[in-house]
Amino acid sequence: ISAWSKVPLGPPDAILGITEAYKADKFDEKINLGVGAYRDDAGQPYVLPSVKEAELRLLTQLLDKEYAGITGVPTFTKLAAQLAYSPSCPALQEDRIVITQSISGTGALRIGGEFLAKWYPYGKTIYVPTPTWANHGAVFRDSGLEVKSYRYYDKATISLDLDGMLEDIEAAPVNSVILLHACAHNPTGVDPTPEQWRKISEIVKKRDHFVFFDMAYQGFASGDTDRDAYALRYFVEQGHQLVLSQSFAKNMGLYGERVGAFSMVVHSAEEKKRVDSQLKIIVRPMYSNPPIHGARIAAEVLSDVGLYKQWLVEVKGMAERIIKMRHLLKQHLEELGSTRNWSHITSQIGMFCYTGLTPEQVDTLRTEYSVYMTRDGRISVAGITTKNVKRLAESIHAVTK
Ligand code: PLP
Repeated sequence: ISAWSKVPLGPPDAILGITEAYKADKFDEKINLGVGAYRDDAGQPYVLPSVKEAELRLLTQLLDKEYAGITGVPTFTKLAAQLAYSPSCPALQEDRIVITQSISGTGALRIGGEFLAKWYPYGKTIYVPTPTWANHGAVFRDSGLEVKSYRYYDKATISLDLDGMLEDIEAAPVNSVILLHACAHNPTGVDPTPEQWRKISEIVKKRDHFVFFDMAYQGFASGDTDRDAYALRYFVEQGHQLVLSQSFAKNMGLYGERVGAFSMVVHSAEEKKRVDSQLKIIVRPMYSNPPIHGARIAAEVLSDVGLYKQWLVEVKGMAERIIKMRHLLKQHLEELGSTRNWSHITSQIGMFCYTGLTPEQVDTLRTEYSVYMTRDGRISVAGITTKNVKRLAESIHAVTK
């Protein structure tokens, strides 16, 4: 008898299921809006030219393949911290930001979860928004934290439920851990305004909460890496205790290279040494040390003045294509005579749009129009192109009129 005979079949991944159904569809004008990766206007994966150039340069150097240290490639982590916090951040200059390379954003969240579960001296519960990235719950639960939620999105208005969010954050026990999406909230595309961030910061401070920022889309939201780091930098300036997960999957298109970083703003350089030693103790038995190739690419892009400038333009290009597709989709819906208010399509930000479509409408779109998206009505705007946007608008109009 097999050792695994009692292992139950687990549920399939929601997104992978959509991709499979899409692949099996024979219709040549089928549209896949499920994938969470950028596509160019021809619907193809996009390797940023700055990233290609950095990779070519690395290849010609024929570097060795020795292990990185436990916390990764130091030139990469230094530059990643500067990109997030800005080079002029006092906490950076005072040498009180601890940082380790991570297996992209997911790995950073996991290291952070493990660290909090082991060392956070108060309640080991993390509060995440409703809804949130589908993997947050599992990552934090497997790290040893309890996961609870706060209100974030209001279905009726298709926008931020600021009052609900503030109420729930205030009601959480003092010293709770609050997870905030730094920009381009996934899946809703709804971000707080600077004024709303100010209110969130006040409540967090009042309750002595601890903030865990997840920044998976820096630059990808507005097209400007500084602008997208606004909330993080504002919270640092306000003196919050916080940690940060960074991903270079989307903004450098390094998805499969798994490039990310986990950092913590602490009180002093002395405290940094202690915290850093414990981060290493967490990382070492998990994967020993991170992969070097992607981190070297990112470091080359971030450190070379020419490539860095080029990269900023390319990030902006991706963000702008997405913004353009939002406008086109809305425009086509209006031209078709849709009487619905579609303003959220353009007011939301980042890769995803929460359309407000019902699960039934999503099902009809799939079965009758070969348009694929998750049943919560989330579409990946990156899947829209100048070629398919009209047919997409017609299909959405057909199921919503
Ligand atoms: N956090 C959020 C909110 C995300 O949307 C994603 C990816 O979709 C991630 C983290 C982690 O992605 P990765 O591990 O590929 O960097």
